[in-house]
Amino acid sequence: MEVATVPVPVHVNGGKAGILAEDHFGLMAVIDVEPLPTVVSADDLVVGDEGKKQNGREIVLGRNVRTESLEVTEPDANDEFTGDKEAYMAGVLARYRKTLVERTKHHLGYPYNLDFDYGALGQLQHFSINNLGDPFIESNYGVHSRQFEVGVLDWFARLWEIEKNEYWGYITNCGTEGNLHGILVGREVLPDGILYASRESHYSVFKAARMYRMECVKIDCLITGEIDCADFKVKLLANKDKPAIINVNIGTTVKGAVDDLDSVIQTLEESGFTHDRFYIHCDGALFGLMMPFVKRAPKVTFKKPIGSVSVSGHKFVGCPMPCGVQITRMEHVNVLSRNVEYLASRDATIMGSRNGHAPLFLWYTLNRKGYKGFQKEVQKCLRNAHYLKDRLCDAGISAMLNELSSTVVFERPRDEKFVRRWQLACQGNIAHVVVMPSITIEKLDDFLNEFIEKRSTWYQDGQVQPPCIAADVGNENCACALHK
Ligand SMILES: *Cc1c(COP(=O)(O)O)cnc(C)c1O
Repeated sequence: MEVATVPVPVHVNGGKAGILAEDHFGLMAVIDVEPLPTVVSADDLVVGDEGKKQNGREIVLGRNVRTESLEVTEPDANDEFTGDKEAYMAGVLARYRKTLVERTKHHLGYPYNLDFDYGALGQLQHFSINNLGDPFIESNYGVHSRQFEVGVLDWFARLWEIEKNEYWGYITNCGTEGNLHGILVGREVLPDGILYASRESHYSVFKAARMYRMECVKIDCLITGEIDCADFKVKLLANKDKPAIINVNIGTTVKGAVDDLDSVIQTLEESGFTHDRFYIHCDGALFGLMMPFVKRAPKVTFKKPIGSVSVSGHKFVGCPMPCGVQITRMEHVNVLSRNVEYLASRDATIMGSRNGHAPLFLWYTLNRKGYKGFQKEVQKCLRNAHYLKDRLCDAGISAMLNELSSTVVFERPRDEKFVRRWQLACQGNIAHVVVMPSITIEKLDDFLNEFIEKRSTWYQDGQVQPPCIAADVGNENCACALHK
């Protein structure tokens, strides 16, 4: 599928905006291999407990490992006259653009829909649009996009079934900000509450616990990655004297597992927690926008006793900049907001200044696709995810796909270069592909063919065996020598 691109306006000819043609600078040398980051030699480092290896790359806390950087240089006195610097910068940007095109083609691991066309919004790049403060109360800064933001929020409120005058929400910088906000609202509503989250929750949930200095109890998961309600119950009963703030995953990051919201609520009720003694935040960063369109999926709705839902805008929707949506109940947000005279607005958001472009992008896509469009895309993603899983299994490769998910978990490829080429996200012995609308069957075939071919060389002499991943995906999904 063609990747839509927004033309990059560059300043040439004394600042007159022109559109950079694909090959304006004759830079056809396509950067097909990203330079591998240099591995810092062991003698260079003092690797204490903080030194961690990830994707074969050394991560050392307290030291910035630079693989490459583009220096910022002072303009020469005569640059304005010669235009040398403009030409240099245009060249750098053109090369960078080519890298982006190439990297976009070989992207499978992160749940980002890279297929969009926002050409129509190019005209708005010249404005510093900022929705600082509350979406529903105008500040004195007039260059904002609140009318679009509220339109988008209303759309999500309808999706998650809460009346316009009963919800409050805003467009965030990312799914993480949604989690930080949801958990903060929970803590303000139940100040001495304990935060419960499954072990496979996103790291932003545990970050919130640290930031807010909340007591946090980790709940075990089933092999699918879903929260284990039996363990949840044991831990609730051990802390009956304190209210409960629960993070429920609508799609976990690694396995795409959906926590059973109804069972979570039932477990709370059975453990003696009345509705005024718990607060549920639903982390829908990944599937918050997919689940409503999956048949037979449990419903995320404010008709159930939940306090907030958040979703990432740059994941399934697709957006050039990270963003997200957070919706909570109006009654809760009143607990947390303060009036700020300087803003002439209410202060209930985590951030002060807020990206005013993001609402325009979301508004544009929601209008173009609508419920029907999303439904179609979700079905396509689920079909393609099944295709990938089936072909992996046919090739004798361990793989798992959760029922409501488009995240295919499989054996981690042995070669880090291959991992990086396809930008796979890995954890321990497993890797995953999150099938998004931009991932076509052709792309999956390219990946599969390459994987299967490479794999036959990795394991040809029988000296090394493919890893056993039964602990991650269960015996029935593991195709290692022992379990197949
Ligand atoms: C991606 C993700 C997040 C964080 O979202 P960002 O937009 O990357 O900040 C939170 N929770 C889950 C389950 C995610 O997959």
